[in-house]
Parts: sequence; C-alpha cells; structure tokens
Amino acid sequence: MPESKPSLIEAARHRPWYRLRLPEDLEAQFCETIRCSRATYLQSWVLIFIVFNVLSLKMDFDLFGPEQFAVPAFLTLGVFLPAGLMAIAGLHGITTARRQAGIVTGIALLDMVIVLNSARLAPQPHAGTYLILAVIVPMVVGMIAPLSFRHSLVLCGSAFGLYAVYIVGFVLPRSEAIGLPLLIASLSLVPLKLAYSREWTCKEAFLLTLEKSARDRDLADANARLTILSETDSLTGLRNRRSAATHLQTLWAEACAGSTWAVLMLIDIDAFKRLNDTAGHPEGDRCLRQVAQALAATAALHDGQVARYGGEEFIVFLPGADPSAAERIGEGLRLAVQALAYPHPGLCDGAHVTVSIGVATAHGSLGSLAIASADLLKAADDALYRAKHGGRNRVESATLAPESANFDGVRGSAFG
Ligand code: GH3
Ligand code: MG
Ligand code: MG
Repeated sequence: MPESKPSLIEAARHRPWYRLRLPEDLEAQFCETIRCSRATYLQSWVLIFIVFNVLSLKMDFDLFGPEQFAVPAFLTLGVFLPAGLMAIAGLHGITTARRQAGIVTGIALLDMVIVLNSARLAPQPHAGTYLILAVIVPMVVGMIAPLSFRHSLVLCGSAFGLYAVYIVGFVLPRSEAIGLPLLIASLSLVPLKLAYSREWTCKEAFLLTLEKSARDRDLADANARLTILSETDSLTGLRNRRSAATHLQTLWAEACAGSTWAVLMLIDIDAFKRLNDTAGHPEGDRCLRQVAQALAATAALHDGQVARYGGEEFIVFLPGADPSAAERIGEGLRLAVQALAYPHPGLCDGAHVTVSIGVATAHGSLGSLAIASADLLKAADDALYRAKHGGRNRVESATLAPESANFDGVRGSAFG
C-alpha cells in the first residue's frame, strides 16, 4: 500500500457527510484496493442471478401455459443466459469500477426488460406478479452488488425510468390506476440509501487501515531511531559500549563458526587526564572526536569497526586478520593518531596526543576449548596494560591459539 500523508488521511476522515468522494490520491488508492476483490464478487453474484432466472422458467411455464411459454423461454435462455455469461467474462481480469458498474447495470436492466415484457404478455391476472418481480430485480441488484453510490444512482435511476416508461406505455392506456405501479416503481430507488452507507463505511474502513499503517510506520521509524541512539556514543558518533559488547560476541561467534581469526584491540589515549586538566574539558572532547575519527577511518581500511569503550578508551574489532596482520594494523592505528599531531599542552613542549594499544588475536578453533569472547577482551586488556607499563605510545600483542601454550584462559567480562 503506497504511503499517504497522515494530514491528508485526517482531513478525509473529517469530511462532511455529503462528501462521499475522497481527495484525489486517496480516492484512486481506494478504487485500486477494492477493484479486484469486487470483480470476483460481482462474477459470483451474476452467476447466481443467471441460476435464479433459469429456475424462474418453471414459474413462467406454470403461468404462461405450454403454448405461450416459448417467448419467456427464448428471452431467458436465448438472450439473458448468453448475456449473463458474457458479463461474467467481461468482469474477469483488470476492469475499471465504471466498467464493472456498466456491466452490472446492463445485466439488471436487460433482466428487467424481459420481466416487464412478461408482465405485458402474461395472461391476466398474472401480469401483477411480473410487475412486482420487475422491480425486485433492480432492488436486489442495487442492494447486493457493491456499486459506488454514483453508479447505484445510474442503476436505480435507469430502472425507475424504465419502469415509468413501461407504466406510461402499457399500464396507463389500459387503466387509470397508476398509484400502485408508481409505488412499486419507486421501490427501485430504495437501494440508494444502502449504496450511500456502504460506500461511506467502506471508505471509513479504508481510511482507518491507512491511518493504522501510517502509525505502524511511524512507530517502526521511531524504534529504529531509538535503537541507533541506544547503540551510539553521542560524543564521537561511534558504537557505544553496549553495542560493542554485542559486536564482540558476534565477532567471536563468527570466528568460531568459520574457524578463522578474530582480532580485538583496546586503545587508550595516553595521559588524557593531563590534557583535560591543562586545556580544559571541551578541548578534551574535541580531542576524543578527532582520535575517534582517525581510528575509525584507519580501521575501515581493514574492514574493522571501532567503538567507544568508555572515557578515553576505544575498542577495535577486526575479522579475519592473523596475529602478524593484527599487529601491523595496530601499529597503523597508533601512527594514525600520532599523525593527527594533536597538541598535548599537559606534556613537554611540542608534545602530541598518542595512544597505547593492546592487541588480542584469537583463533576460532579455540571456541571448542571453551574460550569465550570475554577471554579475548581480557587478553587485550592485559596487552594494553603492558603497553602502558612499557612506556605508552606503543602496541603490545597477545595471541590465543591452540599452539600458544602461554595462554591460561582467564575468565571474566571486562564489560561489567
Ligand atoms: P593513562 O595514560 O594511564 O591512560 O592516563 P590517563 O590520564 O589517560 O588516564 P586516566 O584514567 O587517569 O584519565 C582518564 C581521563 O579521561 C579522566 C576523565 O576525566 C577523562 N574523561 C573521561 N571521559 C571523558 C569525556 O567524555 N570527555 C573528556 N573531556 N574527558 C573525559
Ligand atoms: Mg583509561
Ligand atoms: Mg588514558
């Protein structure tokens, strides 16, 4: 269903009772929605109408008698039956609402003409029976066939006109009693009220459905925005710690499933507190954003992802890199921050902001040995600790592989 502006739907829902038609776009959408289902409904309905007419032949036979039965039999089987079948065929496939209404009106009027003709020819006192039957036809059609009010107006108006012509042409010349036939004729206008209410109700239901889908869409958009917000760090625009936790588990699960390498790096800005203390917090924030950008751009070159782990610490995920590639990329990240040449007034003159990096590389085959993503994190944390104690602005690595006997599989989640 194509989107419609909520304001347009709202305006349509509050239109006055005498305005059945919806605004242009909505009206076209409404017609398109009901067209196909209506075609099938009308086809089945015309079929029942044919069956009803064929069954009425028995009554014709009883009232006309065997000698005069030939005329109604010919009109029903030779004219109405083929016309009805053609109508069913005409309603098949893609038809416009106007064409559907045209076919239905045509069939109803044809049947009416046949019945009125029987009223003219039927031996007395049976003419009255056909006279009533003739008005039942458009009444039933108008009530059952789901035509729009406009098309019902054409059907009922034509039926009433046809009846009036019949009364003037055949009833009046024979009798002065026009009251009863006129009353009967006016019954053909009864379905108009029903058609009006039906169209109004259908359109209300249609508008409500549109309103609901617009609300559902808004809700889905709001949820998507919330999800992004809940996973994004507002200062740097990177993934936040919560999202990083999920990402780490996915990274490790994929490495285990594919038996490939997974790399996790913890990156910490060196002596950041002193930068804050000397240059001020806003300057610290600016530095965090620039470092985040440099890390993200460099990691992206290797299909890596960066998240803000908290404070002045970042976490990098790299799928598929082996230990030596991981160390090279770690060094690249360190150099990328150094290349920013971001002044650090808290250190010696001319000093720039640097980072220390702990790299942990683990092979997915370790998953079967109960090594978990938290172990990877712990190994990266330990490596970062070594980098800090080794003098800062450096990269330290740890490898978790079946061959590496020095890994003791420390447990515990540093995500806390
Ligand atoms: P080290 O080299 O050992 O990592 O020292 P450090 O000073 O970088 O580490 P420390 O943990 O002592 O200080 C981290 C500082 O980061 C303290 C805190 O005020 C600052 N910080 C944490 N989050 C933010 C932030 O969002 N903006 C700013 N401007 N500062 C922050
Ligand atoms: Mg820190
Ligand atoms: Mg630090």
